[in-house]
Amino acid sequence: MKIALGGVVRGGTSLAYETGTWRDRKPIIDYDLCKGCGVCEEVCPDNVIHDVNGVYAIDYGYCKGCGLCAYECHVNAIEMIFEAK
Ligand code: SF4
Ligand code: SF4
Repeated sequence: MKIALGGVVRGGTSLAYETGTWRDRKPIIDYDLCKGCGVCEEVCPDNVIHDVNGVYAIDYGYCKGCGLCAYECHVNAIEMIFEAK
């Protein structure tokens, strides 16, 4: 997005920009290990992990691959893998 000198960026547009393309690693949840505690949902700074019918799912359209969810998962159910580009 090009912003003109003195321009004002329009607010409320975050859903229009899928920032998941910034990612070089992606979190993968191992559902055999996951205990459903919800810690990953609480710590995700981009708010992209949600309980969907009792299963925690990641919205990769906006996940930036920071790895915080994997770091905080107490049963190591989330693995960060390199993205295929
Ligand atoms: S933090 Fe780990 S165990 Fe807890 S819901 Fe997330 S993936 Fe599952
Ligand atoms: S890698 Fe970061 S942005 Fe992506 S789901 Fe985990 S905590 Fe959220």
